[in-house]
Order: sequence, then structure tokens, then C-alpha cells
Amino acid sequence: MIAFAYLGVAQNTDQDQIKKLYNAALTEGKGYDWLNYLSNQIGGRLSGSVQAQQAVNYTKSQLDSLGIDKVWLQPVMVPKWVRGTPEFAYFETSPGVTTNVAICALGGSVATPPKGIKANIIEVAGIEQLATLGKDMIEGKIVFFNKPMDPTQINTFSAYSNCVDQRYAGALEASKFGALGIIVRSMNLRLDDFPHTGSMSYGDQTESNRIPAAAISTNAAELLSTSLKLNPDIKFYFKQNCKEFPDVESYNVIGEITGSAKPEEVIVVGGHLDSWDLGDGSHDDGAGCVQSMEVLNLFKTTGYRPKRTIRVVLFMNEENGLRGGNKYAEVAEAKKEKHIFALESDSGGFTPRGFTIDGSDKNFEKVLGWKNLFEPYLVHYFEKGFSGADIGPLKKEGLVLAGLRPDSQRYFDHHHSDNDRFEHVNRRELELGAASMASLIYLVDKYGF
Ligand SMILES: [Zn+2]
Repeated sequence: MIAFAYLGVAQNTDQDQIKKLYNAALTEGKGYDWLNYLSNQIGGRLSGSVQAQQAVNYTKSQLDSLGIDKVWLQPVMVPKWVRGTPEFAYFETSPGVTTNVAICALGGSVATPPKGIKANIIEVAGIEQLATLGKDMIEGKIVFFNKPMDPTQINTFSAYSNCVDQRYAGALEASKFGALGIIVRSMNLRLDDFPHTGSMSYGDQTESNRIPAAAISTNAAELLSTSLKLNPDIKFYFKQNCKEFPDVESYNVIGEITGSAKPEEVIVVGGHLDSWDLGDGSHDDGAGCVQSMEVLNLFKTTGYRPKRTIRVVLFMNEENGLRGGNKYAEVAEAKKEKHIFALESDSGGFTPRGFTIDGSDKNFEKVLGWKNLFEPYLVHYFEKGFSGADIGPLKKEGLVLAGLRPDSQRYFDHHHSDNDRFEHVNRRELELGAASMASLIYLVDKYGF
């Protein structure tokens, strides 16, 4: 009876503290203004760029201004790939009859020869189809990967996972059959004119075997596909002059509130500070960065003094290398730091729906026990699953990883394209996400694992 009564009090305290965090986020939050600056004053923050360095300086100065215990920069070498002048492409249905199409080079792609590439183009529905067609059909041509994202998947990240292999490995695989270049349908559920970039890999292919790769907008992919059915002899032309430079030094930006009772137990909250160069990276992942910074701000604002060390980490170079995530884990390991929990926000700044948890069954059950505290905020999706790329390298026995799961229906309208812009982030949605993150971290800090 006494125990039951005590539990009731504890629950009320938690409800009250969580309500305070949500109230503070919605009335005194700083995240939206930080995002405004990152997006509109700095812009796209590709690793190794001037903008990436500006973002490092800006977020460090803002963390300094919060009056938390420590703020520092963690050096890390990152790749530097530069898009160069805008890409250009068209298809030619008969000599001199051309239609321009919107493309963008995939991140890490080589350039075309200076005059571009013009060749016949062959459509495939995915990497598997290359072997069916064989070298006879592919050699000397441009391969057009046109597998769409599956609209019936409610979790749009699953639809993304199911076709992103054509972007990531399409050039490597098509070159084995003698292709001259590849064009990939953008990872976008919507039909529009934005090409979406993203990382790709040549594996261990030597320079001379690498073929250029570009994404094409979904509207242009539909048009090209229809035109090819009417006339398989269509020629495709594209030109891009992107370039890879030697690695440069950059930084993870880190700040912490040192724990009052168990400072040696570290809880990480983070997102990635780099973005692609198209658009301003507001959803991917400016939102996750400012939400993570906001967690510390909300603890300060509400006067909550954590027992454990709460550390915000803004990881550099998630998009085209994951060097920041790897570096952070490497340093944590070398210093024998004890991380108990890491939470990443890298799924857009949309209305929060819940969390994915990557940890033991016992620890998952523990988190599930807190679910009712989130239900008043309509945050109720608690599932086991992938947490986030940057915190992945920390994974080890006993550590619990988690990812904020916002509504994903509109995410791929923006992801990696010029349509990832500040005006597409809703202030309240962003703030509710930050409050949800702060609430989960509050519970982990209070109860531990
Ligand atoms: Zn991201």
C-alpha cells in the first residue's frame, strides 16, 4: 500500500516535470531561432565547406551562451567533395529535338568529361536487373535506375531503404557491365522537379573505372521513362564537374551539463551538423541539432539539475563519411567513458510520434514503462529498431540507443534536395520534438538502466 502510494507520487512528479519541459519548449524554446540562423544565415553545410565551419563556430558560441559546464570542439578529418558548377542534362528524341531535365550529381561522384557524356540510355527497375540484361545490352550506354519508392509503406524510411541501393551502389554495379554513367530516380515519394542527392560509393574501384552518377527529379524520371517506351533510341546527355579534394580538418561540437550525483555516467543527445549542399539542411539535420541543443537549454530553463552527465554532440560528416560519429566513439572508448544512453534526432523536424529503441529486451521494457507519460502529447510509438547513424558506432553491450521518430510522410519531399528549406519546418512541431527528447532524457537520467 505504501509502495503503491509512493509510486503514485513519483508518477505525478514525472508528469509535472515533463509538463514543465513541454511548456518551456513551447514558450521559451531557442531551437527555432537557432535553426533560422543555421539555415538562413549559413545555409547548406557540406563537410569541408566554409559553411560547415561557420556552423561549428555558431553552435559552439550558442552552447557557450547557455552557461552549461563544458563546451568543446573535437577535431576530426573529413572528406571534401565539391559540386562545382550546376549540372546540365537533356534527352534527345531525334537529332536536335531535346528536352532539358533536372539532375544533380550524387555525393562523391566523379565528373563527366569536360564536354559531358552523350549516349543511348537504358532503363532498369533496380540493380538486380543489370545481370538479366547483361553486357550486350548495357555496354556503352547510360543506365537509368528507375525503381520508385513504394507508396504503400507507411514508414517512408522503409520505402527509402528498399530502393536506396540503386543510388548508393548503382554506379559501381553498372560499370561492371560497361555502362558509361548512371542516372538515378530521386528518392522522393512525390512527383516534382527537385533532384535529390545523397551518398554513393565506388567501393575499392580505381579512379579510371569510376563512372559519373547523377539523380534525376521524379517528374523528369516519369517523362524519360514514358519517352523511352515510345522510342528506345533516345540519347541522353549530361555534364557535371564535381570534384573530390584531400581531407580537411573539421569538428564535432560538444557541450555538457556535468552530472551532480553520477557524473561518470554519460547520456548523449545529438544530431549531425553537416548537411548536403542543396537547400539549407533544415530538416536534415539542422532540426536534430537544434533540438539536441534545446534539451540542455530546457534543463537550464526549468532548473532541472541532472544526476548524470548530459552531453549534446553535434556530429560532423554524417552524410558522406560518418567520420564524426566514428571519431566520437573512438575517443569515448580511448577515455573509457561509460555511456549509458544515446538519443539521436535525424528524421526531420516534424511532429514527434515516439522513439525507436535499440537495446536489450529488459531495457526496452523499462522504456515502454514510461510510454504513458508521453501519451498526453500524442507521442506513443515505442518500438525496437534503428536509432541513428551517428550514435551507431557507440553501440555495445548494455548501452541503450534511441531515435526520435517524427511523422515521416513529408520527409522525402525535402530530404537531400533544394527543397530542404527553413520554411518547411514548423515551429511547434520542432519544439514538441525537442520537449519529447528532453522528457525521455529526464527519465533516463532519473531512473538509469
Ligand atoms: Zn541526416
